[in-house]
Amino acid sequence: MDRIPVAGPSITQREIDYVTDAVTNAWYSSANMYHARFETAFASYVGRSHAMALPSCTSAIHLSLLALGIGPGDEVIIPDSTWIASAAPISYVGAIPVFVDIDAVSWCIRPDAFTSAITDRTKAVILVDLYGSMPDMTSLLPIAHSHGIKVIEDAAEAIGSSFQGKLAGGFGDVSVFSFHGSKTLTTGEGGMLVTDSREIYERAQLLRDHGRMTGDVQFFNSEVAYKYKMSSMQAALGLAQLERIEELVTRKREIFSWYAAALPKNAGIELNAEPAGVRNSYWMVTAVWDRAFGKSKNEVISAMREAGIDVRPFFHPLSSLPAYSGHVRSSGARVANSTSYDIGARAVNLPSGFNLSEGDVTRILNTLSAILTNRVSEIERA
Ligand SMILES: *Cc1c(COP(=O)(O)O)cnc(C)c1O
Repeated sequence: MDRIPVAGPSITQREIDYVTDAVTNAWYSSANMYHARFETAFASYVGRSHAMALPSCTSAIHLSLLALGIGPGDEVIIPDSTWIASAAPISYVGAIPVFVDIDAVSWCIRPDAFTSAITDRTKAVILVDLYGSMPDMTSLLPIAHSHGIKVIEDAAEAIGSSFQGKLAGGFGDVSVFSFHGSKTLTTGEGGMLVTDSREIYERAQLLRDHGRMTGDVQFFNSEVAYKYKMSSMQAALGLAQLERIEELVTRKREIFSWYAAALPKNAGIELNAEPAGVRNSYWMVTAVWDRAFGKSKNEVISAMREAGIDVRPFFHPLSSLPAYSGHVRSSGARVANSTSYDIGARAVNLPSGFNLSEGDVTRILNTLSAILTNRVSEIERA
């Protein structure tokens, strides 16, 4: 039996044609033709004034923090359950990440946990749209606003999701996206920063090109900065993918619907929720199993892999990782962030790649169920 990968893209002749055109023609005075088209189309898609194509979402978060003036000693609040890329740039700028708990239904930052973590030094919050879900923006944005806290929306996993009809990427001072190979829209590696603020956009432009103004041909650097650019081949790939975004998101939702339909009601397994007001683009179908099974995440992952099915761990709480072991604000997180620790210990991302078939879904759910209930003899080996 074939191995089932956990993620992977949808590439058509359109992507191949655009990348071929870019590698053939996007040089000399046409070098930026695909960046301009990709950025304009992307800004228009998410409903923002400005979009900046970047080499990664990590660089987009780094630039966002810098452009918002976050620096040494400032505190930045962030949900404990997310990929480390959401948080690492906080350390790049010398600020302090403050990890707070998630909501049991949305898996995103809980408004009361956000409020409790605010201090005089809180300068920003990073709202993460986890696995395509979205947090309670109606509560969160006013809290941030009333405390003068800047908002970065990490929509890396949520292109095509929406909250009360507004697309992910439309919230806060700046929103960021990832186009890593596993993401719904991919450029191989890549990212995007979007904002409505001309000031933030221009500051980020300067910082991403070694302290040069856009269009500078004098090679005149006003400060020491960074080099964060996407290649035209990636921009061409991104444009082709963006022109197919409705198809891609529809397919993600269809994959989720296969899982939802195939999952028996009493299986003791819960999938991603679609909280009130949210349209979930289900980047990764995620299964949380009952505590009563007594199975650890690692046990389930290795048994699934043995059966030829690649799954990923639900994010370990960042505060639990060696990367943050010496961190002043991690101690006590296990108790304070009990939902992140609880769900994070008994959940995995199931295969959600574009090459998945409905037949694969039956095999995946049967295997997961057999592992949880110790019916290992029934598992079909790859
Ligand atoms: C993938 C991801 C990122 C990082 O994206 P890169 O493009 O790999 O830098 C950031 N945040 C979240 C929530 C992600 O899932």
